[in-house]
Amino acid sequence: MNPRDLRMTDPSPSFIPFALPDIGEAEINEVVDTLRSGWVTTGPKVKSFEHDFAAFLGDSALHCMAVNSATAGLHLALEALGIGPGDEVITTTHTFTATAEVVRYLGADVVLVDIDPATMCIHIGAVEAAITPRTKAVMPVHYGGLAADMPALLALTKKHGLKVVEDAAHALPTTCGGQLVGTLASDVTVFSFYANKTITTGEGGMVVTRNVELAKRIQVMRLHGMSRDAFDRFTAKVPSWYYEIVAPGFKYNLTDIAAALGIHQLKRATEFQRRRQQIAAIYDAAFDGLPLVPTPQARPGDVHAWHLYPLRLRADAPLSRDALIERLFAAGIGCSVHYIPLHLQPYWRKLYELDAARFPHSQAAYEGLVSLPIYPRMSNADVARVVGAVKEALR
Ligand SMILES: *Cc1c(COP(=O)(O)O)cnc(C)c1O
Repeated sequence: MNPRDLRMTDPSPSFIPFALPDIGEAEINEVVDTLRSGWVTTGPKVKSFEHDFAAFLGDSALHCMAVNSATAGLHLALEALGIGPGDEVITTTHTFTATAEVVRYLGADVVLVDIDPATMCIHIGAVEAAITPRTKAVMPVHYGGLAADMPALLALTKKHGLKVVEDAAHALPTTCGGQLVGTLASDVTVFSFYANKTITTGEGGMVVTRNVELAKRIQVMRLHGMSRDAFDRFTAKVPSWYYEIVAPGFKYNLTDIAAALGIHQLKRATEFQRRRQQIAAIYDAAFDGLPLVPTPQARPGDVHAWHLYPLRLRADAPLSRDALIERLFAAGIGCSVHYIPLHLQPYWRKLYELDAARFPHSQAAYEGLVSLPIYPRMSNADVARVVGAVKEALR
């Protein structure tokens, strides 16, 4: 099992874990139905999940393709866009390594840039300054569920002829200028259904694009490079056993067991978001007046998915971030840090000889950053306990 964020837990019953999925009876029954049906891998449930996802985004022109992780989806997106050796892809240093590692899978180079302190998402001015003749694509991350400045980014990438792949691992549902992330004018958007994300299939992801050619390539590459299209040109009737291998593809398909969870989680995505937003509002109000940098908010009229509630200590806070995490843990509260920026990670730092001085906003944020628990299964008493422990520590 991938222990990312899930190890921040403790067996005692009063412990408030950092993250906890909300799996209901409908999800469990659907999984059992899948198991009894005899069809456990990619099949009818994946098809319905993809169909429901397009309906959720409300745009029938979208191709939604389920995959076994967002990492796989990001890899497929860049592969379909033809990213390869010699190319550069710009992304934010303030993200999980998955966003950047897929660029390296393809032999291309990652160009990390700083965040905009107002949103903690990629800084559009920094993107512009990082563009070279080798730049092919930009990957914004909607950090914590708050949309990056997509209008400015899309204007810039259009001007320079660059592709855009949105890492929307945190962004279901998030809006930008009133439009759901997934329906914006980027090339591909990728969502994650990892165990701690806003909806979960255990492991899973969804690749969304309007571009038919990209969709075809992604569909073929997600399952071994298998295609039945070549046959279509010669005869109307393709025998069910026939396929052709057109590329060395990947094994990135989602199982029906996982999709069974997704079908019901998706139905609850809006209700989940409302509860997360409620918890965020309680935190915002309770922490007013403490030595904290205010948590970034959505613009009026926009939806913040609140996958994360990042608390950020000011430099004059009475204790360090590390000490705060220890105090919260001692009070029976799990928390995490999103993220240790990529410029501090040995692989990325050494590969590109990175220096924290080049990423002052991400670095400053990181030094005071703690992600608090925020998920629908938290009771009001749980939220009150987190508030009490934070206030106590910061007194
Ligand atoms: C979770 C996450 C991913 C990867 O998602 P998986 O489904 O676990 O592959 C990518 N980017 C960000 C920002 C994430 O938080």
